[in-house]
Amino acid sequence: MNNKKPTVFIVGAGPGDPELLTLKAARALAFADVVLIDDLVNPAVLAHCPSTVRIIPVGKRGGCVSTPQSFINKLIVKEAQHGNTVVRLKGGDPAIFSRAGEEIAAIVEARLTYEIVPGITSASAAAAACGVPLTDRAAGHGVAFVTGHPAPGAPPVDWAALLASRVTLALYMVVGRAAEIVAALQAAGAAEDVPCAVVANASGENARQLVCTLATLTHRLIAEEIPSPAIVMIGEAMASVALSTVGEHADASGELKRVQKR
Ligand code: SAH
Repeated sequence: MNNKKPTVFIVGAGPGDPELLTLKAARALAFADVVLIDDLVNPAVLAHCPSTVRIIPVGKRGGCVSTPQSFINKLIVKEAQHGNTVVRLKGGDPAIFSRAGEEIAAIVEARLTYEIVPGITSASAAAAACGVPLTDRAAGHGVAFVTGHPAPGAPPVDWAALLASRVTLALYMVVGRAAEIVAALQAAGAAEDVPCAVVANASGENARQLVCTLATLTHRLIAEEIPSPAIVMIGEAMASVALSTVGEHADASGELKRVQKR
């Protein structure tokens, strides 16, 4: 942490398991006068806050009542201008699909200081749950974090370019849109048998996992009622998931299947 404490900490709470919070995040929480918390954050991490802290939930999950981003931006600035140390607490890593950029723009415009405290992103927790790495140099060149929910008016994801790059795809915010995305991947030339792994509630007590292929992904997500939040990982690096899982069995279609029991 810098010598001079910033006014706002933008903190990653990690994917769910409170033990995956960083020491630095715990320290920032200990400084907090006010915490603006997303609804994917495990509230257990608030144990690091002082007893006097004010907690303001500002969750905005798809399909639910949401707090507008502009309101959150203003609230961060208002609380900081009142002399409070503000922790903006986000699920996973605050630099990945969290609209931190818009909050930082508001903080900078108000001439306030801030520090980002990185967190473990849910794709890392999802790969860990499967017992595989996200990248495998024998299987591809890297990993791409891709949203299934592009901003309104944004150009569509260039799936063909991603496929050509030979990267593992770690798809966020994808559960309700799997059919659309699978169709787009297939239209871009993806093979039917590309290995896929899905982990819902990665690192949480209620984690669920499924292993399938691109051809069966949509059906399996629906049939097994895989909930949100979930990460869908697609690519040859996932081929070893089946080997690493314990207690897997082949289902009627001959695919390996495992629902994690904890
Ligand atoms: N900043 C977060 C991502 C926020 S976007 C991060 O770094 O993880 C919200 C999406 O993240 C969800 O739709 C889901 O795709 C994913 N996600 C968040 N928490 C998750 C979890 N515990 N398990 C699986 N996916 C998760």
